[in-house]
Amino acid sequence: DGASSVYSAALAARRRSYGPNTSLSYEQPLMIVRGSGTYLYNDQGVQYLDCVNNVSHVGHGNAEVAASASAQLHTLNTNSRYLHPDLPRYTELLLSSLNAGCSNSSNSSSSCSSAGSCSGISGGCGNGSYSRAGAWCSDTPPATNSSSTISEIQPQPQPQPQRQQQHQTPSSSSTISQPSLEVLYLVCSGSEANDLALRIIAAARPGATHLAVMGGAYHGHTSALIQVSPYKFWGQGGTGRQPHVHVVPCPDPYRGENLDGRASARAVLAAAARAGGRLGGFLCESVLSCGGQVVLPQGYLQELYDELRRAGVLLVADEVQCGFGRCGGAFWGFQTQGVAPDIVTMGKPIGNGYPLAALATTRELAAAFAAPGMEYFNTYGGSTAAVAAGLAVLRVIQRDGLQHHAHRVGEYLLSGLGRLRAAHEVVGDVRGLGLFLGIEIVRDKASKRHAPATARWLKERMKARRVLLSTDGPYDNVLKIKPPLVFGITEAEILLGQLSEVLDQELTTDVRQQLSQREDEVWASVYGPRYLQYRENERMLYSGLPPARL
Ligand code: PMP
Repeated sequence: DGASSVYSAALAARRRSYGPNTSLSYEQPLMIVRGSGTYLYNDQGVQYLDCVNNVSHVGHGNAEVAASASAQLHTLNTNSRYLHPDLPRYTELLLSSLNAGCSNSSNSSSSCSSAGSCSGISGGCGNGSYSRAGAWCSDTPPATNSSSTISEIQPQPQPQPQRQQQHQTPSSSSTISQPSLEVLYLVCSGSEANDLALRIIAAARPGATHLAVMGGAYHGHTSALIQVSPYKFWGQGGTGRQPHVHVVPCPDPYRGENLDGRASARAVLAAAARAGGRLGGFLCESVLSCGGQVVLPQGYLQELYDELRRAGVLLVADEVQCGFGRCGGAFWGFQTQGVAPDIVTMGKPIGNGYPLAALATTRELAAAFAAPGMEYFNTYGGSTAAVAAGLAVLRVIQRDGLQHHAHRVGEYLLSGLGRLRAAHEVVGDVRGLGLFLGIEIVRDKASKRHAPATARWLKERMKARRVLLSTDGPYDNVLKIKPPLVFGITEAEILLGQLSEVLDQELTTDVRQQLSQREDEVWASVYGPRYLQYRENERMLYSGLPPARL
C-alpha cells in the first residue's frame, strides 16, 4: 500500500514542513485521496473500510451536504452579524432535539462481557426518536417556540425508509424534566465549544474556580482545555494535574471499579474543599470516548449529577463524539443516561467535516455570560455556509433514519463481537451503544491486564486487510469502532469476518509470546506510570489524604 512516488513525496514533505507533533495513523501511513460513504480510497484506488471516522457522520463525500455548503458558498458566506433566516431555523431545530425529553434511563448495554448479553436499548427513544411528522420525539413537544421541524427543511419530503417505520412503537421510558436548553452559540470546533463552556461557568459561578472532569477524558486543545483533559495532562508530554482540577475516577464496569457516582461526586467536592476551592463545573461525556469507549453504569451519571447539582456545580455534557444519533437509542448521549445538563457542547459530526460546532445552554446561564456586556464574536461560528452544512446533516440523519440504523447495526456488531469475545483469550470485553463501540484487549481473561501492544498489533493487521480501526483509552488497549453512520450490516460482516480471521489465523502462540514481551516493555515505559497516576488519584480522592505526587 502506498509505494507511489506521489506517496513518498507527500510523506517527505509532511515530515519536513508540517508540525512535528501531529500524528499520522499506522506504522506505514496511508495516503487517502477520496472517500465515499464508509469507504476510503488511496491514490492507487485501493479501498479501505473506515470504522473510525466519526466526523463524516452521514458519509464521506456526502453529496447533499457538499451541495448545500457549496450553494451557500456561491451565494453568500458571512458572519452572524447580519440576519439570515437559516440561522434561527437551524438553532431552533438543534435546540428542539436537545429538549425533546426523550431520555431512556434504562440503557441496558452497559457492558457486554458475555456473548448474547447485549440486549441493547430497551424501549425508550431507540424506537421512535422522531415522529413521522418530523419532530424529534414522538411523546414530548419541543421546549422552544420553534415551529421548525426537520421535515420542513427537506427540499423534497420523501417517504420514511422501511427500517424507520418498523420502529414507530411508542416510547416506554419515563420523560425526565430537562433544564431548558434555550440558547445556542455556534462556533467552529469542539475545543471552541468547550472553551466557551468554561467561560460561561466562570461567569455564572464567580469564585467557584475549581473544575471536575472524568478520568481519561479529552475535551480539547486550548491551554485551558488541556488543563481539564487527563488524557493529555497525564498522557505523554503532559505536565500533570493543576491544583484547581479534580479527576473523577473513571468507571470501569468490566473490572467492577469506581461504579458509585454519588461517592465520586462527594470525593471531588471534598477534594476541592481540601484544596481551598469550590467546584464551579463538571465536564463529562455521557459515553466515554478517549476514556476507552466506556458505557457508564445505569444511574451512575444521574447520581453524580444529583450530588454535584445540589452543591451548585454546573454540569456540562460534551457530546462532541457521542451525539447526533450515534448511540442509537437516543439522539444525544446524555439522554441515554437520563440526565439533564446545564450546558451541552457539540462538534465533529455536526457539519460532516465542515468546521462547525455548538454550545447550548439555559437562558439564565447565557444571561450571566452576557451580563458584563462583552460581545461574543466568532468570525466563522454560525457563518452562512456552516449553517447550510449543519442543516443538511440534520436533514440526512432524519430522512435516512440514521439514528435507528446505528442502533440496529450496533446491536448486530455487538452480538458478533460477543462471539469473538467468547472464543478468544485476548478479547476481554466488548461494549458500546449504537455505532460507538469498543473492544478491550487484555493479556488474558483471568488477569484482565491491559494489552496495548496486542491492540496496536490487531489494528495494524486489520489495516493490512483494509479495515481501519483505531486504539484508545488511558492504556491504549481499546479498539474503537465509530464509523460514519452509513456503515451497514454488509460492512459489519466485513469487520467481523476480518477480525475473526486475524484472531484465528494470525494471532498464533508464537505471535502471542512476542507480543507478551512487547507488553512488558510498553507497560514498563509508558502505561504503567500512567496506571499508577490514576491509582494515586483514586487513593487521594477516596481516602481524603493529600497526594504526594499530584
Ligand atoms: N471533546 C471531545 C470528547 C473530543 O473527542 C474532541 C476531539 N477529539 C474535542 C472535544 C475537541 O474537538 P476539536 O478537535 O473539534 O476541537
